[in-house]
Amino acid sequence: MSPLWPYALVGAATGAALAWLGGRLVLLTRSGQVALWLAILIAFAAEGWVWGALLTLCVLASGLATHFRRPYKAYVTGLYGAQSAQDWLQVAARFGWPAVLAILSAAVHRGDYLIAFVGALATASADIWATELGMLYRKDPLLITTRRPAPHGTPGAVSLMGVTAAVGATWLVGFVGLVFASLQSWAAQQGVSRDLLWLPLAALLGGMVGNLTDSLLGAAAQAYYYCEICNRYTDQPRHTCGRPTSQVRGWPWMTNEMVDLVSAVVGAAVTVGVAILLAQSRWTW
Ligand SMILES: [Zn+2]
Repeated sequence: MSPLWPYALVGAATGAALAWLGGRLVLLTRSGQVALWLAILIAFAAEGWVWGALLTLCVLASGLATHFRRPYKAYVTGLYGAQSAQDWLQVAARFGWPAVLAILSAAVHRGDYLIAFVGALATASADIWATELGMLYRKDPLLITTRRPAPHGTPGAVSLMGVTAAVGATWLVGFVGLVFASLQSWAAQQGVSRDLLWLPLAALLGGMVGNLTDSLLGAAAQAYYYCEICNRYTDQPRHTCGRPTSQVRGWPWMTNEMVDLVSAVVGAAVTVGVAILLAQSRWTW
């Protein structure tokens, strides 16, 4: 296999460009920019262009979904501009596990953890697309546990628009992963591994289980607070107005970032499990 240092340079440049764009559109704080740059650099440097390009596309699509009709979403959630910019912890919660998988994969046997990587990215993309596009849906989403309407942006609240966006995102991440892996095999004049042919379906099922985990943990376990001054719910112990809030449900340590991380790990594991089952099945193309 070819040396990876040219990819490290491409990763450093691509990561810098995306971090710059994220800062320019106020989607990322300074620490969020550094974390994103690092994640993209790691994916390219550890595993080459397939992993790097896939992460880059997921980040771009997530940024696009977040930027789309942002003033309207700020109006429905009460989070304006810099208040909703992602810091390093929020970036790491979504793209940290994929970056760790890239390092582990490079350490064990190059390319081995691609299916888990795709599953983690499918889960992260599904969560972002469901949240961002779900907010554009006129009707209030329903809390997954009680099926009662909840304000937009409530952890664990789901909408038809959000679920549709999640299904589309998970399948697309798997499909693009398959296309990229096929191109790489074709360029190296090798056949595509049969395990990978099921990647779009495995990513769809694994990503949706990861997304469901996100919603269930968000509704049942995530710490959630209320600001009596602003009459708003928030996932932060201190509201953006600067005043302390009172906790209404969840465990204090089960933060939004913890929910994202657990979902990414579950989504990656289920994607691998589904891919193994499908590859062993008797179904043929
Ligand atoms: Zn407040």
